[in-house]
Amino acid sequence: MASRHALVVGGGIGGLAAAIGLHRVGWQVTVLERASELTAIGAGISLWPNAQRALAELGVNARIAPQSGGGLVDWRGRRLASWDADAFVRSHGLPLGAIHRAKLIEALRSALPAESLKTGVEVTAAEPSGIVRCDDGELEADLIVAADGINSPIRQQLFPAARVAYSGGAAFRGIAKLPLSPSLSTTWAAGTEIGILPLPDDEVYWWVCEARPAGIGHEDNRAYLREKYGRWHEPIGQLIDATPEILRHDLQHLATPLPSYVRGKIALLGDSAHAMPPFLGQGGCQALEDAVVLAEHAGKSTVEAALRGYDTERRPRTQKVTKASMRAGASGPLLRNPAAVALRAAFTRLLPSAVTTRIGASVSRWEPPKLTPVPPRTR
Ligand SMILES: Cc1cc2nc3c(=O)[nH]c(=O)nc-3n(C[C@H](O)[C@H](O)[C@H](O)COP(=O)(O)OP(=O)(O)OC[C@H]3O[C@@H](n4cnc5c(N)ncnc54)[C@H](O)[C@@H]3O)c2cc1C
Repeated sequence: MASRHALVVGGGIGGLAAAIGLHRVGWQVTVLERASELTAIGAGISLWPNAQRALAELGVNARIAPQSGGGLVDWRGRRLASWDADAFVRSHGLPLGAIHRAKLIEALRSALPAESLKTGVEVTAAEPSGIVRCDDGELEADLIVAADGINSPIRQQLFPAARVAYSGGAAFRGIAKLPLSPSLSTTWAAGTEIGILPLPDDEVYWWVCEARPAGIGHEDNRAYLREKYGRWHEPIGQLIDATPEILRHDLQHLATPLPSYVRGKIALLGDSAHAMPPFLGQGGCQALEDAVVLAEHAGKSTVEAALRGYDTERRPRTQKVTKASMRAGASGPLLRNPAAVALRAAFTRLLPSAVTTRIGASVSRWEPPKLTPVPPRTR
């Protein structure tokens, strides 16, 4: 079969992974990214075993830190539940992983031929017939992958009724360098969750998620966090102090489940198709799964059949994970009622660690379909 050409709109985790998958199964790919270079914010990302398997199937070599133990604690650091890494591997198949976002983007970028990446190109429209309009002209392809994020202009054009909504909280995030690497921990209090995930090279990714109204800014994120959480258990105060840049974002999700992820020759992928709140840490993981599944179908079928297969496989799963993320938020950081929070703590203390480490396993046990790589010279 003559090599077919895909235009991938967006050079985030989803777009780069989709381009790698398609390239691997013999497609010519061009990634169009509006930013002038491929970068990522200064934060980490947790990669569940499903995402690690997707990366392996794509042939991407990323240095992911396996999490080796820790627990769920209250604001004073008193243990609510232990997190048993061996039990986690038994239930999920692999350890929970974490990585600096910039290093993940770099690993994805380096798995693609440099000439397939076009930065500084803003896509203004895409047509189901296979035409992409950019700020400087028009391109045509056999397949268009809209991996243009939660505010996807292509989704807005194809599904104008779909709405992005506030998820009920804001997240502060940062990466600190500490001399002593702490272990993984999640801290629960009323309307607050604080997460700590060690990364390679003594770096630590941390986040604070607060239930609160949308749109509250702070002149100084560090001063705000230090004042509010500086006296919580260690190393929270140390992390706040040792972080060069602290980010704050209001959390949002796609509140309208789409009736389809495809239109003509266009496939929506990642946050463009199913932006979910981050309470399960699965948004990026699902984008990586999307990429492998799309490539598998595109490697063996006509575009029409491939997109039908992709939509049938990915829409039910990702919409189910989105709902699970919302439930995790409601019983996690968004739970504010003090009586309900006390009840949650009492109940959590009673759970054996074999039960707590099984949470999320139904999602993270996912196995990728096998891709059949096409050697470059036969393309
Ligand atoms: C606080 C927070 C914590 C999270 N934690 C986790 C976690 O631990 N684990 C996890 O798996 N997920 C997590 N997520 C979710 C994860 O970050 C996203 O699901 C993932 O980044 C989506 O990738 P994407 O490629 O679909 O979209 P994006 O990363 O948004 O990429 C879209 C790209 O498209 C480009 N673009 C947009 N419009 C155009 C245009 N018109 N023309 C050209 N280019 C365009 C953008 O510049 C961007 O580079 C978290 C999210 C948040 C907010």
